[in-house]
Amino acid sequence: MTALEQLAELLFPDVTVTPEEYEVQYPARELKEGARVVRIAPSPTGYLHLGVLFTASVNYLTARATDGVFYFRLEDTDKKREVDGGAEDILTGLRQYGLNIDEGYEAPDKESGNYGPYRQSDRAVIYHTYAKALLLQGNAYPCFCTAEELDVTRGEQEANKQRTGYYGKYARCRDLSPEEAIERVKAGQPYVVRLRSPGDESRRVKFDDMIKGTIEMPENDQDIVLLKTDGIPTYHFAHAVDDHLMRTTHVIRGDEWIASVPVHLQLFRMLGFRAPKYAHVSPIMKEDDGGKRKLSKRKDPEAAVHYYTEQGYPADSVMEYLLTIANSDYEEWRRCHPDEPRSAFPFNLKKMSVSGALFDLNKLNDVSKNVIAVMDAVSVTEQVLTWAQQYDPALYEKLIADRSMAEGIFSIDRGGNKPRKDLAKWSDVPAYVDYFFRAPTEYPWPENLQKGDIRAILNAYAAVYDPTQDKQEWFNTIKALCPALGFCPEVKEYKKNPDAYKGHAGDVSTVIRVAITGRRNTPDLCSIMQLLGKQTVLDRLNAAL
Ligand code: GLU
Repeated sequence: MTALEQLAELLFPDVTVTPEEYEVQYPARELKEGARVVRIAPSPTGYLHLGVLFTASVNYLTARATDGVFYFRLEDTDKKREVDGGAEDILTGLRQYGLNIDEGYEAPDKESGNYGPYRQSDRAVIYHTYAKALLLQGNAYPCFCTAEELDVTRGEQEANKQRTGYYGKYARCRDLSPEEAIERVKAGQPYVVRLRSPGDESRRVKFDDMIKGTIEMPENDQDIVLLKTDGIPTYHFAHAVDDHLMRTTHVIRGDEWIASVPVHLQLFRMLGFRAPKYAHVSPIMKEDDGGKRKLSKRKDPEAAVHYYTEQGYPADSVMEYLLTIANSDYEEWRRCHPDEPRSAFPFNLKKMSVSGALFDLNKLNDVSKNVIAVMDAVSVTEQVLTWAQQYDPALYEKLIADRSMAEGIFSIDRGGNKPRKDLAKWSDVPAYVDYFFRAPTEYPWPENLQKGDIRAILNAYAAVYDPTQDKQEWFNTIKALCPALGFCPEVKEYKKNPDAYKGHAGDVSTVIRVAITGRRNTPDLCSIMQLLGKQTVLDRLNAAL
C-alpha cells in the first residue's frame, strides 16, 4: 500500500464501497426527454419564509411543466444553526401550499424515492467515499491549520492587500507529504479535508444561468473545505455529490449562491460529474420609501409564511399571487383558464425577473378577493371555521353555534357571474359578519335625507314588512312605498327631474339597510333579513326609530 493509500484508509475507515458502486445504485433516471429533476433543499435553520416558498413553487412548477421530478432534501449539516422543529415547519408549510413532493425526506423516519437517503446527516459515508476518491487522485488533502493560524494568514493577506483565503502559497498544508499527514492524524491533530484546486484566478469561467443569462467570473483557486473537522461536508461538497447522485438536472435556488458557482462547476468537473443547469432566483423585493429593497426576515412580518396563515389567507390565494410575480403572463393565463390547476400553467424560468419580483400586499389582497369570491359557501365556511378555531375563538363560537346560518351568510351574493369581493382573508370575516350577531350601535344615514323622512320610511316599511318575500318582491315593495313618501320608484326618472323628489328607491332601501345593519353598503339586504329572521328585523327597525 502506498503512503497515500494508507492515509486514505486512516482518514476514511468507514468507506467500504467505491464511487462506481454508487453510480450503479443511483442510475440515471428514466424520464421522458426534457423532463427536469429539481429539488428544494432547505436547511432547518429557521421557519419557512416566503423566499423559500417562492423558490419551492418555482421548482415545483418546473417539474410539473416538464413531467419531471420535484424532490425534497434536508440540508442539516449545520447543527449549530439548526432550529428545533424547523424541518417539520418547512414540510408542513410546503404541504399546506400544495407543493407536494414526488420523493424525498418527509419526516424523521419517513422518506420516499430511490435516490436517498434525502437527509444529509444520513449520507456521511457517501461524502466520505467521494472525498476518499479525490484524495487518492491527489485532488484533496487533509489540512491541519488551526483557526489561529488561519487568522494570522488572513492578517498577512490583508496587510499585503492580497485576496484573503486558502490558496496558492497560502495553502500551507497543500504540500504535506502523506507520511507527515499520517503522523499528524495519528498524533490526534484535528484536520479538515480540502480540495486541491487546479483553478487560476486570472482565468474566467462562463456559464448560462437560466434566469440571469450568461455570467462570467474568475475561476476558483481556493482550496475550499470539503469535509469539516467532524467529517461533515460543507454545503459546496454536499451540493455536488447529492445533486449528482440524485440526478438533479436543474438547480434552482436563491441567488445568494451565484458567487459559489465557479467552485461548484470545478467540483463537478473534478468529481467527474456532469454539472446541472443553474437558475438563480432573485430575492423577493418590497417597495419602501419610494425605493426597492429585499423583503427582510427581520423587518417584515409578511416575510414569514406563518403571517399568511395567521391572517387567514387561503393557501390558494398565496400561491396564485406568487405565480403572478413569478411569471408576468400568469394573470392572463389565469383569466383564460379559470378552472385549470396551477400545475397546468406553462411555467418558464426564462420569464422570471432578473432584478427581483416586487411583492405587494395590496395586490395579494386583490388576488385573494378573486379567489375567495369564486369559492362555494360550504368551503368558505369550512375554511373560516378552521382558521377561527385557532386564531379567533370568539368568531368560531358564533359561527359554530349555527352552522347553517354561517353557510347562509357566506352564500349571500355568491355563485353569480358578478360575485362580491368583500373578503381578502379570514381575518376580515369578524367585521364582515358583525351585524348578523349584534344590532347596530351607529346609523350612518344618507346625508341627503331629513330625520323626518328617515322616520317616515322606517314606519312605512315596518308596516308592510313581510319576511316571506323574495328579492324581487322585496324590491317591488320598496318601490311601491316610494310615491307616498315623496320618493321616485325609478332611478332613471329621478335623474331626469331630481327636484321633484326627496330621493329615489335606492335611498329608501339604504335607510332600511342602515337600520338593520348599521351600514350603507352590504350584500343583498333581503337575504340578510331572511337570515336574521322576523323578530330581529322588527326589533332593529324599532330600535332605529
Ligand atoms: N441549503 C441551502 C439553502 O437553504 C440550499 C441551497 C440550494 O438549493 O442549493 O440555502
